[in-house]
Amino acid sequence: MEPSFLEKEKQLFFHTYNRIPLEISRAEGVHLIDKNDNRYLDLFSGLAVNALGYSHPKIISAVMQQMTKFSHLSNGYISDIQLELAELLISHTRMSKAFFTNSGTEAIEGTIKLIRKKFGPDKKIYSLDNSFHGRTYGALSLTNRAKYQKGFEPFLPNIDKIGFNNVEDLKNKIDSNTAAVFIEFIQGEGGVNIVSNDFIEELKKLRKKYEFAIVADEIQTGIGRTGKKFGFSDFDISPDIIVLAKALGGGLPLGAFLATSKFDDIFKAGNHGTTFGGNPVCCAAGKVVLTEVFENGLMEHVKIEGEYLISQLNELAKLFPEKISKIRGKGFMVGIELLEPGMPYVSKMRERRVLINCTNSNVIRLLPPLIISKNDIDFFLFNLHELLKV
Ligand SMILES: *Cc1c(COP(=O)(O)O)cnc(C)c1O
Repeated sequence: MEPSFLEKEKQLFFHTYNRIPLEISRAEGVHLIDKNDNRYLDLFSGLAVNALGYSHPKIISAVMQQMTKFSHLSNGYISDIQLELAELLISHTRMSKAFFTNSGTEAIEGTIKLIRKKFGPDKKIYSLDNSFHGRTYGALSLTNRAKYQKGFEPFLPNIDKIGFNNVEDLKNKIDSNTAAVFIEFIQGEGGVNIVSNDFIEELKKLRKKYEFAIVADEIQTGIGRTGKKFGFSDFDISPDIIVLAKALGGGLPLGAFLATSKFDDIFKAGNHGTTFGGNPVCCAAGKVVLTEVFENGLMEHVKIEGEYLISQLNELAKLFPEKISKIRGKGFMVGIELLEPGMPYVSKMRERRVLINCTNSNVIRLLPPLIISKNDIDFFLFNLHELLKV
């Protein structure tokens, strides 16, 4: 007999992923469709990537059109589509300059370089406990979780961590020797944890005094995910640097970092670069994403339906206090903290043709496409309720 997909995968690949046992043959809207034509409601959208769902007609058309012009140009040239995307990003972030990458971790790497060059080698860079900033060495040095770091030491020097929402720890560590603090305003991999207002207020006070950079890692929270433009938009703060990826390329690999004018002249020609970063086809898709999310009303949809989803989940939490301990999140970035392991829920929901994600072992994480309808949300809620009953 032919070996199954999963058996072949084990032969061919390093065992870095716990693959989901489905053979997906195509996808449309909010659904993944397997080789037997079963339709699955996808509530984590390629891990917050497919914000406009799958096979969005405007993305397909923009990508095809760009392919017929040129699919790649060396960054020795500037293309119209890179200019258009940068203009949109700069107007919506109110930053001064942009750099395009292929991924989130590369955007974090570029940011670390920008900070080191501006502040010098001795100043310290901080990230928060339980954070996730990526897997390459600079980014992994900031990703404060044993699960990802163990066995890969040594990391970059002059990097340290601050307790999540721990104002005292923040006050103790930040001083005139601080270069930057990296923050996910809502931690994604860490279990959908929202940073507190008190923490942000203290951070702002300290920045005024010591003039370090606040870096918003918006790779997962950015571009409408929370019902606002960015995760930080719910706080009274303006970051010095914003890092984006995931949803930015509409399913194609694209990341970016943007900084205020204080950083305008830090990089000189040749200091940083990439072969593929800012690929024109990816930028064409990115332009559709930004236009749909920021200018065609999708954020309002996320805000309204996200509030509905969270309120309904809170009702379920009241009905099943022995199973659900907490509902957290904003917009379409939602964590259901369980009093038991989350993986059995993932497989049982899959049998009901609903795909959910589990992070931090007992947190069900929902990151549906931003276009998901109330009907589909109700389909998920109905099935979760059925599972909780047994
Ligand atoms: C996914 C993610 C990254 C890493 O992005 P990649 O594109 O996987 O390299 C970094 N930070 C956050 C907050 C993320 O969610």
